[in-house]
Amino acid sequence: MELSRELLTAETIDPSTGEPARTTIEVRHDPLTGHSSRILPERGLMPASDFDLEAFARESQPNCPFCPGRVDRLTPKLASSIHPDGRITRGEAVLFANLHAYSSHSSVSVYSSRLHYLPLDQVTGRILADNLATQVAFARAVVAADPQSRWASINANHMLPSGSSLFHPHMQGIVDSQPTTMQRLLAEVPAQRYAAYLDTERRLGERYLGNTGRFEWIVSFAPIAPAELRAFAAGISSPAELDDDLIAELAHGLALALAAYAEMGFQSFNCAIYGAPPAGEGYPLNLRLACRSNLRAFYRSDSTFLERLHWEGAVDVAPEAVARRIGDRFRQ
Ligand SMILES: [Zn+2]
Repeated sequence: MELSRELLTAETIDPSTGEPARTTIEVRHDPLTGHSSRILPERGLMPASDFDLEAFARESQPNCPFCPGRVDRLTPKLASSIHPDGRITRGEAVLFANLHAYSSHSSVSVYSSRLHYLPLDQVTGRILADNLATQVAFARAVVAADPQSRWASINANHMLPSGSSLFHPHMQGIVDSQPTTMQRLLAEVPAQRYAAYLDTERRLGERYLGNTGRFEWIVSFAPIAPAELRAFAAGISSPAELDDDLIAELAHGLALALAAYAEMGFQSFNCAIYGAPPAGEGYPLNLRLACRSNLRAFYRSDSTFLERLHWEGAVDVAPEAVARRIGDRFRQ
């Protein structure tokens, strides 16, 4: 597979010297969906976090509906057809219905009611695995109770810049009869194209991070968002099909990635694990994980008219630089 890229040159006149100045922009096309992305020269668009998250945590904690003593009282229960207890728990993770539904079945799952403050370098595989396990149980319960709802995704808005309205870290599940745009586009990609993309990245090596068992991790060639990683697991198409071993493996990979983000100075991220209907032929369960701008007063959003309205990524963090920063974490 040829990874498509084209170099554009912008010429301007430098105001201080009056001399021509040139900037090179690389336009890349995603090998799966064809969407394009612009790799810009490093411009410092994603400064490292210098925000006192711990102080903000203390400030937001007294009114947090997900904290101990309030989570049972203030969060909606699941319909009894989905779960007789109204909540799904695993370890310290608790899943409940999303107060603000996005689909026929929308859930929120906190890593722990106790973990109001959870910086990315403290997100362990265990914490992630328990939370993912509640989401997997939710997806299974919905698919069993409402067979029309076959499109499941597990997602995260982590910290306010990512779209999270609450500080307390959590994941969100959507199980619906309707795929999202990206689920639909990914499900339309032929199985051979996934295989060819991964073969190409394995061969080139510069964005290939490693294989944790069934999941293969790469840095996106044409990212929608900064420091975007992708992972693929052949042989399963829905989160509802993840067993405990695969949940632990996926959680381990996510923990490695989040630790790398923390080291790069990032504290906010989005994640989407894109499920297609269970037992789909050839569709690999796959995910995107990407950084968002750090929390600070008057911060610059990393999502501009390009991402929101043109569906075009524009990042000044080169994918190959991200892969170098992550290094051999996934190869151990
Ligand atoms: Zn809280």
